[in-house]
Amino acid sequence: MIDPTWKPETLAVQGGYRPKATEPRIVPIVQSTTFKYDSADHVARLFDLDCADHFYSRLSNPTTAAFEQKLAQLEGGVGALATSSGQAAISLAILNICRAGQHLVAASTLYGGTYSLFYTTLPKLGISVSFVDPAASAEEIAAQFRPETRLLFAETIGNPGLNVLDFDKFAAVARQQQVPLVIDNTFATPYLCRPFELGADIVVHSATKYIDGHATSLGGAVVDGGRFDWRCGRYAELTEPDASYHGLRYCEKFGAQAYIVKARVQFMRDLGMCAAPLNSFLFNHGLETLPLRMERHSSNALAVARHLQQHPQVSWVNYPGLESHPTYALAQKYLPRGCSGVLTFGIRGGAEAGRRFMEATRLIALVVHVGDLRSSVLHPASTTHRQLTEEQQRASGVLPDLIRLSVGIEHVDDLLADIDQALAAC
Ligand SMILES: *Cc1c(COP(=O)(O)O)cnc(C)c1O
Repeated sequence: MIDPTWKPETLAVQGGYRPKATEPRIVPIVQSTTFKYDSADHVARLFDLDCADHFYSRLSNPTTAAFEQKLAQLEGGVGALATSSGQAAISLAILNICRAGQHLVAASTLYGGTYSLFYTTLPKLGISVSFVDPAASAEEIAAQFRPETRLLFAETIGNPGLNVLDFDKFAAVARQQQVPLVIDNTFATPYLCRPFELGADIVVHSATKYIDGHATSLGGAVVDGGRFDWRCGRYAELTEPDASYHGLRYCEKFGAQAYIVKARVQFMRDLGMCAAPLNSFLFNHGLETLPLRMERHSSNALAVARHLQQHPQVSWVNYPGLESHPTYALAQKYLPRGCSGVLTFGIRGGAEAGRRFMEATRLIALVVHVGDLRSSVLHPASTTHRQLTEEQQRASGVLPDLIRLSVGIEHVDDLLADIDQALAAC
Protein backbone atom coordinates (compact mmCIF):
# COMPACT_ATOMS: atom_id res chain seq x y z
CA MET A 1 0.00 0.00 0.00
CA ILE A 2 1.05 3.55 -0.65
CA ASP A 3 1.28 5.65 2.48
CA PRO A 4 0.18 9.23 1.69
CA THR A 5 2.38 10.53 4.51
CA TRP A 6 5.55 9.36 2.75
CA LYS A 7 7.92 12.18 1.93
CA PRO A 8 7.98 13.40 -1.70
CA GLU A 9 11.31 11.64 -2.35
CA THR A 10 9.64 8.33 -1.42
CA LEU A 11 6.37 8.98 -3.25
CA ALA A 12 8.32 9.95 -6.36
CA VAL A 13 9.99 6.54 -6.40
CA GLN A 14 7.32 4.29 -4.86
CA GLY A 15 4.04 6.09 -5.55
CA GLY A 16 1.41 5.40 -8.21
CA TYR A 17 2.16 1.78 -8.98
CA ARG A 18 2.56 -1.11 -6.50
CA PRO A 19 2.90 -4.49 -8.21
CA LYS A 20 1.43 -7.63 -6.72
CA ALA A 21 3.33 -10.95 -6.68
CA THR A 22 4.50 -11.99 -10.18
CA GLU A 23 3.52 -8.65 -11.73
CA PRO A 24 6.18 -6.51 -13.47
CA ARG A 25 8.37 -4.54 -11.05
CA ILE A 26 8.25 -1.55 -13.41
CA VAL A 27 5.02 0.06 -14.66
CA PRO A 28 4.36 -1.73 -17.97
CA ILE A 29 3.66 0.19 -21.17
CA VAL A 30 0.12 -0.95 -21.94
CA GLN A 31 0.10 -0.13 -25.64
CA SER A 32 -3.51 -1.13 -26.21
CA THR A 33 -6.41 1.02 -27.38
CA THR A 34 -8.99 -1.18 -25.75
CA PHE A 35 -9.64 -3.78 -23.04
CA LYS A 36 -11.55 -7.07 -23.15
CA TYR A 37 -14.75 -7.87 -21.25
CA ASP A 38 -16.85 -11.00 -20.83
CA SER A 39 -20.32 -9.62 -20.18
CA ALA A 40 -22.51 -6.93 -21.72
CA ASP A 41 -23.57 -5.97 -18.22
CA HIS A 42 -20.03 -5.14 -17.19
CA VAL A 43 -19.62 -2.89 -20.24
CA ALA A 44 -22.97 -1.24 -19.53
CA ARG A 45 -21.79 -0.45 -15.99
CA LEU A 46 -18.63 1.13 -17.44
CA PHE A 47 -20.66 3.39 -19.70
CA ASP A 48 -22.95 4.34 -16.81
CA LEU A 49 -19.84 5.24 -14.74
CA ASP A 50 -20.81 2.66 -12.14
CA CYS A 51 -17.37 1.09 -12.30
CA ALA A 52 -13.98 2.59 -13.16
CA ASP A 53 -12.21 -0.22 -15.05
CA HIS A 54 -10.25 0.64 -18.17
CA PHE A 55 -12.11 0.06 -21.42
CA TYR A 56 -10.76 2.53 -24.00
CA SER A 57 -7.45 4.39 -23.78
CA ARG A 58 -8.94 7.77 -24.69
CA LEU A 59 -10.62 7.69 -21.26
CA SER A 60 -8.09 5.76 -19.20
CA ASN A 61 -5.14 3.43 -19.56
CA PRO A 62 -3.18 1.52 -16.88
CA THR A 63 0.20 3.12 -17.69
CA THR A 64 -1.33 6.57 -17.74
CA ALA A 65 -3.26 5.82 -14.53
CA ALA A 66 -0.01 4.99 -12.73
CA PHE A 67 1.43 8.36 -13.78
CA GLU A 68 -1.78 10.18 -12.81
CA GLN A 69 -1.90 8.57 -9.39
CA LYS A 70 1.74 9.33 -8.61
CA LEU A 71 1.36 12.94 -9.68
CA ALA A 72 -1.84 13.32 -7.62
CA GLN A 73 -0.01 11.86 -4.59
CA LEU A 74 2.94 14.22 -5.07
CA GLU A 75 0.64 17.25 -5.35
CA GLY A 76 -1.59 16.08 -2.49
CA GLY A 77 -4.70 16.06 -4.71
CA VAL A 78 -7.66 13.67 -4.97
CA GLY A 79 -7.11 12.76 -8.61
CA ALA A 80 -5.35 13.69 -11.82
CA LEU A 81 -6.01 13.50 -15.55
CA ALA A 82 -3.10 13.22 -17.98
CA THR A 83 -3.32 15.02 -21.31
CA SER A 84 -1.46 15.14 -24.61
CA SER A 85 0.32 18.42 -23.75
CA GLY A 86 0.42 21.23 -21.21
CA GLN A 87 -1.74 23.36 -23.52
CA ALA A 88 -4.32 20.57 -23.57
CA ALA A 89 -4.28 20.43 -19.75
CA ILE A 90 -4.88 24.18 -19.44
CA SER A 91 -7.64 24.15 -22.07
CA LEU A 92 -9.38 21.23 -20.42
CA ALA A 93 -9.04 22.65 -16.89
CA ILE A 94 -10.82 25.80 -18.06
CA LEU A 95 -13.46 24.33 -20.39
CA ASN A 96 -14.49 21.94 -17.61
CA ILE A 97 -16.02 24.86 -15.65
CA CYS A 98 -16.20 27.80 -18.06
CA ARG A 99 -18.43 28.11 -21.12
CA ALA A 100 -19.41 30.68 -23.78
CA GLY A 101 -20.62 33.86 -22.11
CA GLN A 102 -18.45 33.31 -19.03
CA HIS A 103 -15.17 34.87 -18.01
CA LEU A 104 -11.92 34.25 -16.19
CA VAL A 105 -9.28 36.43 -14.54
CA ALA A 106 -5.61 35.61 -15.13
CA ALA A 107 -2.26 36.98 -14.00
CA SER A 108 -0.68 38.69 -17.02
CA THR A 109 2.73 37.05 -16.48
CA LEU A 110 2.08 33.85 -18.41
CA TYR A 111 3.76 31.33 -20.63
CA GLY A 112 3.45 32.60 -24.25
CA GLY A 113 1.21 29.71 -25.36
CA THR A 114 -1.15 30.26 -22.43
CA TYR A 115 -1.27 33.99 -23.16
CA SER A 116 -2.21 33.25 -26.79
CA LEU A 117 -4.86 30.75 -25.69
CA PHE A 118 -6.37 33.33 -23.34
CA TYR A 119 -5.97 36.36 -25.60
CA THR A 120 -6.92 34.86 -28.96
CA THR A 121 -8.57 31.45 -28.79
CA LEU A 122 -10.79 31.48 -25.69
CA PRO A 123 -12.53 34.69 -26.88
CA LYS A 124 -13.32 32.89 -30.17
CA LEU A 125 -15.13 30.30 -28.03
CA GLY A 126 -17.05 33.07 -26.26
CA ILE A 127 -14.95 32.98 -23.06
CA SER A 128 -13.49 36.36 -22.16
CA VAL A 129 -10.34 36.89 -20.12
CA SER A 130 -9.20 39.83 -17.99
CA PHE A 131 -5.48 40.07 -17.26
CA VAL A 132 -4.20 41.47 -13.96
CA ASP A 133 -0.72 42.48 -12.88
CA PRO A 134 0.14 39.85 -10.24
CA ALA A 135 1.68 42.64 -8.15
CA ALA A 136 -1.65 44.53 -8.06
CA SER A 137 -3.49 44.80 -4.73
CA ALA A 138 -6.19 42.31 -3.75
CA GLU A 139 -8.76 45.08 -4.31
CA GLU A 140 -7.49 45.76 -7.84
CA ILE A 141 -7.60 42.06 -8.69
CA ALA A 142 -11.08 41.69 -7.17
CA ALA A 143 -12.26 44.64 -9.28
CA GLN A 144 -11.79 42.50 -12.42
CA PHE A 145 -14.41 39.99 -11.28
CA ARG A 146 -17.90 39.86 -12.80
CA PRO A 147 -20.96 37.78 -11.96
CA GLU A 148 -20.00 35.39 -14.80
CA THR A 149 -16.34 34.97 -13.71
CA ARG A 150 -15.61 31.28 -13.16
CA LEU A 151 -11.94 31.02 -12.16
CA LEU A 152 -8.70 32.79 -11.28
CA PHE A 153 -5.56 31.59 -13.08
CA ALA A 154 -1.85 32.14 -12.37
CA GLU A 155 1.56 30.44 -12.58
CA THR A 156 3.59 29.53 -9.47
CA ILE A 157 6.67 30.97 -11.19
CA GLY A 158 5.75 33.13 -14.17
CA ASN A 159 7.36 32.07 -17.44
CA PRO A 160 9.62 33.82 -18.38
CA GLY A 161 9.23 36.74 -15.96
CA LEU A 162 10.09 34.39 -13.04
CA ASN A 163 7.88 36.27 -10.59
CA VAL A 164 6.84 34.04 -7.70
CA LEU A 165 3.09 34.17 -7.08
CA ASP A 166 1.74 35.76 -3.91
CA PHE A 167 -0.37 32.72 -3.03
CA ASP A 168 -1.91 34.29 0.08
CA LYS A 169 -3.22 37.23 -1.93
CA PHE A 170 -4.50 35.21 -4.90
CA ALA A 171 -6.07 32.53 -2.70
CA ALA A 172 -7.81 35.18 -0.60
CA VAL A 173 -9.29 36.87 -3.69
CA ALA A 174 -10.43 33.51 -5.10
CA ARG A 175 -12.05 32.57 -1.78
CA GLN A 176 -13.75 35.94 -1.44
CA GLN A 177 -15.07 35.72 -5.02
CA GLN A 178 -16.06 32.04 -4.60
CA VAL A 179 -14.13 30.82 -7.64
CA PRO A 180 -11.40 28.17 -7.81
CA LEU A 181 -7.75 29.24 -7.99
CA VAL A 182 -6.16 27.36 -10.92
CA ILE A 183 -2.35 27.21 -10.75
CA ASP A 184 0.12 26.27 -13.47
CA ASN A 185 2.83 24.58 -11.37
CA THR A 186 5.04 23.59 -14.33
CA PHE A 187 8.19 25.51 -13.33
CA ALA A 188 8.07 24.68 -9.63
CA THR A 189 6.91 21.03 -9.85
CA PRO A 190 5.33 19.44 -6.76
CA TYR A 191 8.83 18.98 -5.32
CA LEU A 192 9.45 22.71 -4.94
CA CYS A 193 5.86 23.84 -4.36
CA ARG A 194 2.55 22.20 -3.42
CA PRO A 195 -0.07 24.78 -4.42
CA PHE A 196 -2.97 22.94 -2.74
CA GLU A 197 -1.33 23.66 0.62
CA LEU A 198 -1.25 27.34 -0.35
CA GLY A 199 -4.91 27.74 -1.28
CA ALA A 200 -5.04 26.50 -4.88
CA ASP A 201 -7.97 24.34 -5.98
CA ILE A 202 -6.79 22.98 -9.34
CA VAL A 203 -3.20 22.48 -10.53
CA VAL A 204 -2.14 22.13 -14.16
CA HIS A 205 1.19 20.99 -15.55
CA SER A 206 3.13 20.85 -18.73
CA ALA A 207 4.73 17.45 -18.03
CA THR A 208 6.90 18.18 -21.07
CA LYS A 209 9.25 20.21 -18.87
CA TYR A 210 10.66 19.04 -15.52
CA ILE A 211 8.34 16.05 -15.01
CA ASP A 212 9.74 14.42 -18.15
CA GLY A 213 13.04 16.15 -17.51
CA HIS A 214 14.80 14.49 -20.42
CA ALA A 215 13.09 16.30 -23.33
CA THR A 216 11.52 13.15 -24.75
CA SER A 217 7.73 13.67 -24.65
CA LEU A 218 4.92 16.20 -24.86
CA GLY A 219 2.30 15.84 -22.14
CA GLY A 220 0.37 17.55 -19.40
CA ALA A 221 -1.92 16.95 -16.48
CA VAL A 222 -4.78 18.46 -14.50
CA VAL A 223 -4.77 17.72 -10.76
CA ASP A 224 -7.82 18.23 -8.55
CA GLY A 225 -7.29 19.39 -4.96
CA GLY A 226 -10.82 18.15 -4.10
CA ARG A 227 -11.64 21.01 -1.72
CA PHE A 228 -13.51 23.59 -3.80
CA ASP A 229 -17.24 23.72 -3.02
CA TRP A 230 -18.85 23.43 -6.46
CA ARG A 231 -22.27 23.59 -4.83
CA CYS A 232 -21.97 27.32 -4.23
CA GLY A 233 -24.60 27.88 -6.94
CA ARG A 234 -22.50 28.93 -9.95
CA TYR A 235 -21.21 25.63 -11.30
CA ALA A 236 -24.40 24.12 -12.65
CA GLU A 237 -22.46 21.71 -14.93
CA LEU A 238 -21.19 19.95 -11.79
CA THR A 239 -24.36 20.02 -9.73
CA GLU A 240 -27.12 19.73 -12.38
CA PRO A 241 -27.89 16.63 -14.50
CA ASP A 242 -25.58 15.78 -17.44
CA ALA A 243 -27.84 14.70 -20.32
CA SER A 244 -24.94 12.77 -21.90
CA TYR A 245 -24.93 10.42 -18.87
CA HIS A 246 -28.68 9.91 -18.33
CA GLY A 247 -28.95 12.87 -15.99
CA LEU A 248 -25.95 12.08 -13.78
CA ARG A 249 -24.97 14.79 -11.26
CA TYR A 250 -21.18 14.85 -10.77
CA CYS A 251 -21.12 16.34 -7.27
CA GLU A 252 -23.74 13.96 -5.99
CA LYS A 253 -22.11 10.85 -7.45
CA PHE A 254 -18.38 11.64 -7.15
CA GLY A 255 -18.17 14.02 -4.20
CA ALA A 256 -14.69 15.54 -3.81
CA GLN A 257 -13.62 14.08 -7.17
CA ALA A 258 -16.51 15.62 -9.13
CA TYR A 259 -14.33 18.06 -11.08
CA ILE A 260 -11.67 15.60 -12.22
CA VAL A 261 -14.17 12.83 -13.03
CA LYS A 262 -16.17 15.25 -15.16
CA ALA A 263 -13.02 16.42 -16.94
CA ARG A 264 -12.28 12.82 -17.88
CA VAL A 265 -15.68 11.38 -18.73
CA GLN A 266 -17.07 14.44 -20.47
CA PHE A 267 -14.31 16.60 -21.97
CA MET A 268 -11.66 13.93 -22.50
CA ARG A 269 -14.38 11.74 -23.97
CA ASP A 270 -15.49 14.51 -26.33
CA LEU A 271 -12.26 16.37 -27.14
CA GLY A 272 -9.82 13.46 -26.95
CA MET A 273 -6.55 15.19 -26.03
CA CYS A 274 -5.37 12.06 -24.24
CA ALA A 275 -1.89 11.00 -23.12
CA ALA A 276 0.01 8.31 -25.02
CA PRO A 277 0.94 5.27 -22.88
CA LEU A 278 4.63 5.48 -23.83
CA ASN A 279 4.70 9.14 -22.79
CA SER A 280 3.05 8.29 -19.46
CA PHE A 281 5.71 5.62 -18.93
CA LEU A 282 8.43 8.20 -19.54
CA PHE A 283 6.77 10.77 -17.26
CA ASN A 284 6.51 8.17 -14.54
CA HIS A 285 10.22 7.49 -15.02
CA GLY A 286 10.90 11.22 -14.88
CA LEU A 287 8.99 11.62 -11.62
CA GLU A 288 11.23 9.00 -9.97
CA THR A 289 14.22 11.36 -10.10
CA LEU A 290 12.30 14.64 -9.91
CA PRO A 291 13.40 15.53 -6.35
CA LEU A 292 17.08 14.92 -7.14
CA ARG A 293 16.94 16.82 -10.40
CA MET A 294 15.03 19.81 -8.96
CA GLU A 295 17.62 20.17 -6.20
CA ARG A 296 20.45 20.23 -8.73
CA HIS A 297 18.59 22.45 -11.23
CA SER A 298 17.94 24.92 -8.40
CA SER A 299 21.45 24.96 -6.91
CA ASN A 300 23.07 25.23 -10.35
CA ALA A 301 20.72 28.05 -11.40
CA LEU A 302 21.45 29.98 -8.19
CA ALA A 303 25.21 29.60 -8.76
CA VAL A 304 24.91 30.72 -12.39
CA ALA A 305 22.70 33.68 -11.38
CA ARG A 306 25.26 34.82 -8.77
CA HIS A 307 28.09 34.45 -11.29
CA LEU A 308 26.26 36.46 -13.97
CA GLN A 309 25.34 39.13 -11.42
CA GLN A 310 28.98 40.09 -10.89
CA HIS A 311 29.99 39.79 -14.57
CA PRO A 312 30.85 43.16 -16.17
CA GLN A 313 29.10 42.30 -19.48
CA VAL A 314 25.80 41.50 -17.81
CA SER A 315 23.43 44.42 -17.21
CA TRP A 316 20.83 42.62 -15.08
CA VAL A 317 19.98 39.14 -13.77
CA ASN A 318 16.50 37.90 -12.94
CA TYR A 319 16.23 34.87 -10.65
CA PRO A 320 13.86 34.64 -7.68
CA GLY A 321 16.63 33.10 -5.55
CA LEU A 322 18.65 36.35 -5.73
CA GLU A 323 18.16 38.86 -2.91
CA SER A 324 17.76 41.58 -5.59
CA HIS A 325 14.68 39.90 -7.11
CA PRO A 326 11.35 41.73 -6.55
CA THR A 327 9.69 38.47 -5.42
CA TYR A 328 12.68 37.17 -3.37
CA ALA A 329 10.62 37.30 -0.15
CA LEU A 330 7.80 35.33 -1.80
CA ALA A 331 10.34 32.80 -3.05
CA GLN A 332 11.72 32.39 0.48
CA LYS A 333 8.20 31.89 1.75
CA TYR A 334 6.76 29.57 -0.91
CA LEU A 335 9.82 27.90 -2.51
CA PRO A 336 12.12 27.09 0.42
CA ARG A 337 13.74 24.17 -1.39
CA GLY A 338 14.88 26.19 -4.38
CA CYS A 339 13.62 28.31 -7.24
CA SER A 340 13.91 25.83 -10.13
CA GLY A 341 16.29 25.97 -13.07
CA VAL A 342 15.24 28.91 -15.22
CA LEU A 343 16.82 32.36 -15.05
CA THR A 344 16.96 35.35 -17.35
CA PHE A 345 19.53 38.07 -17.89
CA GLY A 346 20.40 40.98 -20.16
CA ILE A 347 23.72 41.39 -21.92
CA ARG A 348 25.32 44.79 -22.43
CA GLY A 349 24.94 45.39 -26.15
CA GLY A 350 21.25 44.47 -26.17
CA ALA A 351 19.48 42.17 -28.60
CA GLU A 352 22.46 41.90 -30.97
CA ALA A 353 24.86 40.78 -28.21
CA GLY A 354 22.16 38.41 -27.01
CA ARG A 355 22.00 36.77 -30.40
CA ARG A 356 25.81 36.42 -30.49
CA PHE A 357 25.83 34.89 -26.99
CA MET A 358 23.31 32.23 -27.97
CA GLU A 359 25.43 31.23 -30.94
CA ALA A 360 28.67 31.21 -28.96
CA THR A 361 27.77 28.75 -26.20
CA ARG A 362 29.18 25.27 -26.74
CA LEU A 363 27.75 23.16 -23.94
CA ILE A 364 24.54 25.15 -23.52
CA ALA A 365 22.36 24.51 -26.59
CA LEU A 366 20.04 26.88 -28.45
CA VAL A 367 16.74 25.06 -27.89
CA VAL A 368 13.08 26.14 -27.59
CA HIS A 369 12.57 24.25 -24.34
CA VAL A 370 13.04 24.42 -20.61
CA GLY A 371 13.27 21.77 -17.93
CA ASP A 372 15.59 19.40 -19.75
CA LEU A 373 18.50 18.08 -17.69
CA ARG A 374 20.74 19.48 -20.48
CA SER A 375 21.25 23.25 -20.21
CA SER A 376 19.67 25.39 -22.90
CA VAL A 377 19.47 29.03 -23.95
CA LEU A 378 16.84 31.13 -25.79
CA HIS A 379 15.93 34.70 -26.77
CA PRO A 380 12.12 34.73 -26.11
CA ALA A 381 11.30 38.04 -27.85
CA SER A 382 12.39 36.61 -31.21
CA THR A 383 11.08 33.08 -30.60
CA THR A 384 8.48 31.86 -28.05
CA HIS A 385 6.86 35.27 -27.57
CA ARG A 386 7.29 36.64 -31.11
CA GLN A 387 3.53 36.46 -31.92
CA LEU A 388 2.87 39.01 -29.18
CA THR A 389 3.20 42.77 -29.65
CA GLU A 390 6.05 44.47 -27.77
CA GLU A 391 3.48 45.80 -25.28
CA GLN A 392 2.06 42.32 -24.71
CA GLN A 393 5.62 40.99 -24.43
CA ARG A 394 6.46 43.52 -21.73
CA ALA A 395 3.21 42.69 -19.88
CA SER A 396 4.32 39.03 -19.94
CA GLY A 397 7.74 39.99 -18.55
CA VAL A 398 9.71 39.69 -21.83
CA LEU A 399 12.20 42.50 -22.46
CA PRO A 400 13.85 42.89 -25.91
CA ASP A 401 17.37 42.02 -24.62
CA LEU A 402 16.22 39.19 -22.32
CA ILE A 403 18.07 35.89 -22.59
CA ARG A 404 16.59 32.85 -20.93
CA LEU A 405 18.81 30.11 -19.55
CA SER A 406 17.35 26.76 -18.54
CA VAL A 407 20.13 25.56 -16.28
CA GLY A 408 20.62 21.80 -16.41
CA ILE A 409 22.15 19.33 -14.01
CA GLU A 410 25.67 19.28 -15.49
CA HIS A 411 28.61 20.22 -13.21
CA VAL A 412 28.30 23.90 -12.43
CA ASP A 413 32.01 24.58 -13.17
CA ASP A 414 31.54 23.47 -16.78
CA LEU A 415 28.43 25.66 -17.14
CA LEU A 416 30.22 28.72 -15.74
CA ALA A 417 33.19 28.12 -18.07
CA ASP A 418 30.88 27.88 -21.09
CA ILE A 419 29.06 31.09 -20.11
CA ASP A 420 32.36 32.94 -19.61
CA GLN A 421 33.79 31.88 -22.97
CA ALA A 422 30.51 32.80 -24.73
CA LEU A 423 30.44 36.23 -23.03
CA ALA A 424 34.08 36.76 -24.06
CA ALA A 425 33.05 36.09 -27.68
CA CYS A 426 30.29 38.74 -27.61
C1 LIG B 1 5.53 24.75 -21.76
C2 LIG B 1 4.53 25.31 -20.87
C3 LIG B 1 3.16 25.14 -21.11
C4 LIG B 1 2.65 24.40 -22.33
O1 LIG B 1 2.98 23.07 -22.27
P1 LIG B 1 3.18 22.13 -23.58
O2 LIG B 1 3.45 20.81 -22.98
O3 LIG B 1 4.32 22.69 -24.37
O4 LIG B 1 1.88 22.19 -24.33
C5 LIG B 1 2.27 25.67 -20.22
N1 LIG B 1 2.69 26.36 -19.14
C6 LIG B 1 4.00 26.54 -18.86
C7 LIG B 1 4.39 27.30 -17.64
C8 LIG B 1 4.96 26.03 -19.72
O5 LIG B 1 6.26 26.24 -19.45
